[in-house]
Amino acid sequence: MNLPLITRAQKHDEKIAIVTTDGAFTYGDLLHTSSQIATGLLQDAEDLEEQRVAFLIPSGFEYVATQWGIWLAGGIAVPMCISHPRPELEYVITNSGASIIVAHPNFEGILRAIATAQNLRFILTSQTLPDHVRPLPEVDITRRALILYTSGTTGKPKGVVTTHHNIQAQVTSLITAWEWTSSDSPGETLRDRILHVLPLHHIHGIVNVLTCALWAGAECHMLAKFDAETVWNRICDGDLTLFMAVPTIYVKLISAWESASKERQKSMTAGCAKMRLMVSGSAALPVQVLQKWQSISGHFLLERYGMTEIGMALSNPLHGERYSGYVGQPLPQVEVRLVDEGGELVPPGTPGEIQVKSPGVFLEYWQNPQATAKAFRDGWFCTGDTAVVENGNYRILGRMSVDIIKTGGYKVSALEIEEVLRSHPDIQECAVVGVADLEWGERVCAALVLQPQRELTLESFRSWAKEQLAVYKIPTRILTVEELPRNAMGKVIKPTVVELFRP
Ligand code: ATP
Ligand code: MG
Repeated sequence: MNLPLITRAQKHDEKIAIVTTDGAFTYGDLLHTSSQIATGLLQDAEDLEEQRVAFLIPSGFEYVATQWGIWLAGGIAVPMCISHPRPELEYVITNSGASIIVAHPNFEGILRAIATAQNLRFILTSQTLPDHVRPLPEVDITRRALILYTSGTTGKPKGVVTTHHNIQAQVTSLITAWEWTSSDSPGETLRDRILHVLPLHHIHGIVNVLTCALWAGAECHMLAKFDAETVWNRICDGDLTLFMAVPTIYVKLISAWESASKERQKSMTAGCAKMRLMVSGSAALPVQVLQKWQSISGHFLLERYGMTEIGMALSNPLHGERYSGYVGQPLPQVEVRLVDEGGELVPPGTPGEIQVKSPGVFLEYWQNPQATAKAFRDGWFCTGDTAVVENGNYRILGRMSVDIIKTGGYKVSALEIEEVLRSHPDIQECAVVGVADLEWGERVCAALVLQPQRELTLESFRSWAKEQLAVYKIPTRILTVEELPRNAMGKVIKPTVVELFRP
């Protein structure tokens, strides 16, 4: 086996790799079980040769052993989301052309039915593993490793194919930048222990947390699912060094903190003080959340920017000064540029599309050569996101397709307007969208979640907004909603918000 992730794990053998409510598992345990799984997957074949294996397993040791087992057998891992309904699972299985489905018994009903209907091999994780481990194929790092489906924030999720080499580049870039460490000998830096609370069908959970931890020889403590009280209990234990999450998770942790007793709050804060780094990403971090989190935890969250197709690209510094509302600068091995519609570089202070070049950039959209070709220009990946550089730091303005609103000849950033609206005393959450309009091209509209027992008229809202925003940025329609539509990553699904404003 020549995958560096595996040869590194062999060196860590006796060290603890994964901790779950079922116990602690060493790197040796992980290698042994994943080799057994690989043997079972291979049956009589010598190599899965990039066959797709779709799997649905809750976060924990079995998930990781299965993912590694697929890699050891030479297959492509296609992780699925445990909260997705049947049609979305079917979409992933069909689109990836999976030939094998591996399922945790919790999901047997749905997945066995799909496997039978599509004549696919079906394996349950509870099936007995073979004692004998067969010789495993040589897997070169240039092979395809993973198909991750994008979050589906702007449309149908796209299958993003990364090779082992791409993943290695994504991981080593973050390990360097955020100084992951596996050293646990006395007198040296503490061995990293991360609490993993994120879904495992998405780059944030798989690459930034799980694979970075295992590459580094650190410990990954996995929760089967996110629950604010359990997270706080683990933080209070005081043994964690790292935590990474999406903004909605920080919001939930803040509200659990607010309803805790004074004594518990003290121990929550003390637990946070033991950590060396807390990270936020996958969606824009509202400044109010950053400030509140800092006041309760003492941590100025490190915000970074990335996407399924490129891994992480921009990050605030581990040591230097971090700026709220900014995602910092390019990570190691990553080149970033901003260009205008004609493909020309824009000067600092002028918005442009983010384009990225790095060894971490994905290989292709699965079986979609047109989409792949369209996404690259002269070797640069076109992210479709807009940003601006101010004082040397990147500020994300949003997706060209849904967040950059073209209204009356102006281009305005929905993210910028949202940031302002959240400072209104009656607004808890909001999503700003552009809705097609004959007169304006697009009209700026805002879906609002109000603070409990508050009301807001368009008139009073607009007169408040006039003090804060240029007049063309002020939403002309508002709609109060109970909650915003969000996907499994906690991201607001903007096309669904637009629908709310359609007659
Ligand atoms: P889809 O491509 O299916 O519409 P998606 O783009 O949400 O879904 P992901 O790859 O999970 O799928 O998310 C990447 C996107 O998330 C980026 O392109 C960017 O728009 C957004 N994003 C990530 N980090 C940040 C951040 N720190 N601030 C603002 N936006 C961010
Ligand atoms: Mg995307």
